Amino acid sequence: EEDAALLAGRFEEVDENAPLKLDPVLAIVGRPNVGKSTLVNRILGRREAVVEDTPGVTRDRVSYPATWNGRNFTLVDTGGWVHDAKGIHARVADQAGIAADMADAVLFVVDSNVGATATDEAVVRMLRRKKKPVILVANKVDDMVQEADASALWSLGFGQPYPVSALHGRGTADMLDAAMEVLPEYSAHGGLARTGGPRRVALLGRPNVGKSSLLNKLAGSERVVVDPLAGTTRDPVDEIIELGGRTWLFVDPAGIRRRVHMQQGADFYASLRTQSALDKAEVAVVLLAVDEVLSEQDVRILQMAIDSGRALVLAFNKWDLLDEDRRRYLEREIEQDLAHVDWAPRVNLSARTGWHKDRLVPALDKALESWDKRIPTGRLNAFLGELVAAHPHPVRGGKQPRILFGTQASSRPPKFVLFTSGFLDPGYRRFITRRLRETFGFEGTPIEISMRVRE
Ligand code: GDP
Ligand code: GDP
Repeated sequence: EEDAALLAGRFEEVDENAPLKLDPVLAIVGRPNVGKSTLVNRILGRREAVVEDTPGVTRDRVSYPATWNGRNFTLVDTGGWVHDAKGIHARVADQAGIAADMADAVLFVVDSNVGATATDEAVVRMLRRKKKPVILVANKVDDMVQEADASALWSLGFGQPYPVSALHGRGTADMLDAAMEVLPEYSAHGGLARTGGPRRVALLGRPNVGKSSLLNKLAGSERVVVDPLAGTTRDPVDEIIELGGRTWLFVDPAGIRRRVHMQQGADFYASLRTQSALDKAEVAVVLLAVDEVLSEQDVRILQMAIDSGRALVLAFNKWDLLDEDRRRYLEREIEQDLAHVDWAPRVNLSARTGWHKDRLVPALDKALESWDKRIPTGRLNAFLGELVAAHPHPVRGGKQPRILFGTQASSRPPKFVLFTSGFLDPGYRRFITRRLRETFGFEGTPIEISMRVRE
């Protein structure tokens, strides 16, 4: 009863029909060397040592959970995209545009020692078109004397520049206060409704895996391009596709259809898009293809999808290229390579011929149902009771950790909290996870188990 009381205070019932609440997104943009990475580290409270002095080092992660004054937000870092010398203005501006598309507000960083350059001006023009709130950051104002330089940036037309020193932390509190003021409580992501409406799908995969082919095949003639905001035709818009008699929203089809021809920074750009699509989606379809072995990029995209906590469907494309024997052989191979995601439904299909394309919807439904699922506390504890009685935790150092009580703290994805009388072995936790999956389904969703150890 003690535990029940404890839980009652700590966990709220989850309303399954509640809109998906995403933290608001704050993106940092600006040309190279103005101090974006330093500012990211400052905001995240990491040490300066994390800043890479080596140009060309691209980072895998582009968005980070961050907090200021008790408010959570997602910080999007665009500092790792390395530019070549040619056409740099346009590229920096494009990058800022992409970041602005996925953000609810933008920190636009300028080097106040250098002043506004032609590249900065190009970014200004791009940001103005996006109509998102912009906080102008005059960086490298390390002391009072330099504040005069910062005021010159009024001319950029984004109002008061915030003089900061990302290096020393000077002024960043005021800047973040200002950012919190313009950020909405929850992310609006380009004004898309989060309540009700079609479910949101991110179709992901490396170049040439067949994403656009599949999207075209699925959309057929029923394709509707939605334009949620007037005057945003150049921006990526989500696309409504009718499948299985219902509508689905495919996020960022522009990222799927538009070929990105870039040498340097292409990986980073792709990661940015993948992350942004995942942020907006409820379920990810990771597309792989049988004409190539599982590449590093495939693995990275898959990992991003797994880490995102979204529902997941794996689709293998180009099966028309294989004969019967090859198919059987590949089946076994795939099972081995993807043993760690054996919980995700898999669909073998051909975007070219349309073979098995009708299997995608049942897989999406299954994965989303699991993702939404909530196990009542009573049922969960009956399950845990039986499990523990049949398979008690091994004795460790004369003690036997016991599970006192469990509850599903949230769904989308399902997260469980176990109250225990001691630390559970990782092996035992994996065992519980496996049994949870076997007993309650959860096909297509990651699940998370955490422990509260009672002393
Ligand atoms: P990015 O390319 O925009 O991500 O810029 P970085 O964060 O890598 O910074 C570029 C250079 O500017 C590095 O040498 C930083 O140490 C330096 N820098 C960044 N912020 C400040 C600052 O507030 N003051 C000074 N003096 N230098 C800074
Ligand atoms: P994207 O870069 O992921 O959007 O890939 P595309 O849809 O542009 O496809 C890349 C190439 O693979 C194109 O030449 C397609 O015709 C081909 N392709 C796509 N799907 C299939 C398929 O199911 N079977 C075969 N044989 N080729 C395919």
